[in-house]
Amino acid sequence: MLLAAVKGYELRLFLDAARKLELPVALGTDRCHVLDNPWRDGALPLRFEEPEASARRVVDFARSQPLAAIVALGDRATQTAALACQALGFPYNPPEATAACRNKFLARQMLEAAGLPVPWFRRFSRHDAPRACLAQVAFPCVLKPLALSASQGVIRADTPDDFIAAFERIAALLARPEIQVHKDATTDWLLAEGFIAGREVALEGLLDRGRLRPLALFDKPDPMEGPYFEETIYVTPSREDAATQAAIVCCAEQAARALQLFHGPIHAELRLTTDGPRVLEVAARAIGGLCSRALRFRTGIALPELILRHAAGLPIEPLAREDAAAGVMMIPIPHGGIYEGVEGVEEARAVPGVEDVAITAKEEHPLEPPPEGSSYLGFIFARGSLPEEVEAALRQAHRRLRFRIAPRLPLARKA
Ligand code: ADP
Repeated sequence: MLLAAVKGYELRLFLDAARKLELPVALGTDRCHVLDNPWRDGALPLRFEEPEASARRVVDFARSQPLAAIVALGDRATQTAALACQALGFPYNPPEATAACRNKFLARQMLEAAGLPVPWFRRFSRHDAPRACLAQVAFPCVLKPLALSASQGVIRADTPDDFIAAFERIAALLARPEIQVHKDATTDWLLAEGFIAGREVALEGLLDRGRLRPLALFDKPDPMEGPYFEETIYVTPSREDAATQAAIVCCAEQAARALQLFHGPIHAELRLTTDGPRVLEVAARAIGGLCSRALRFRTGIALPELILRHAAGLPIEPLAREDAAAGVMMIPIPHGGIYEGVEGVEEARAVPGVEDVAITAKEEHPLEPPPEGSSYLGFIFARGSLPEEVEAALRQAHRRLRFRIAPRLPLARKA
């Protein structure tokens, strides 16, 4: 069974992979909890914000239609998957682990308890007075919501004034109805922690009953110094030296163990400090959405197929990534407004090495830049023999795109 929060591109990739493997799949989604079969795709309607009840529904379903494995796509479904897998006896991550991966405060506590080096960290309520919190923090620091992702609401503060402004901005973000609707242990809190200086990398891996098998190490060649931390370019293989790469894998494995992660895909973000790699976070899922397209393995299989094979207990050897370098650019939103369109897509696609340009912004829809926003204008994919070529192709293609973003009209005033 695939558990997916959205009916998006990523789900299609997994359904295609399942078809290729001739694995029959059932779907569990939280698109609608009122109607049965709302999307006429036979999906089991679930609510991932109620993981216990959702897991019970999955277990009931498995009584009449036996399941062999459960795969969660994205972060939100992981808790339901963990509880259902525990009840059905499938190897996956224990619910304690998936809970920690969805709660940055809990994750820091578990990493610290396991003796891993972590920056100082404090949790504050969104209702606290930020000025009163100042005595407990140092600078530079980073403030962030406990459970959002894609750098949404993550802000660097270098001074007390920065801290107060960032705190108020995150508190306002958390108060939004679309966030409070997911009310749980995280939506009323924010975390402040020491700023970790250093280059950033992302490790894609597969945990196999506790053993980490690295799949790909991505460099993030754009400096991420703040005050906001929008993702842009990911390129693999990494240009870090072999010793650094080994230290990254070792650090990610220790973090996964500290978080009690056990089986299935992980996506770890780390910074390389002068004292060695430091974990920013580990997610109990693969790299998000369209980005998984950047990864192919030598046997010709792509990441979704690999994850399905692993969950279903099918052979996945050998795991070597294909020789070519690959990269993706998440196209940042330069400023807010209404998205009107883009020129230059064909010119961008024509850049040597560029495989595709996928524009995901929708015309006439509002765009919200970071830190409140968490989406991109689209994605550029490139492949080449060397990572520096891939990076250059992504940047060149990006320069050829001309986005039209209209300012939002001020609300009409009554005469
Ligand atoms: P999310 O789950 O939203 O991605 P993260 O905690 O991973 O949140 O933060 C997003 C980005 O913000 C990171 O990729 C990193 O660039 C930056 N960041 C977060 N925490 C820190 C920190 N303590 N020091 C330096 N940069 C940080």
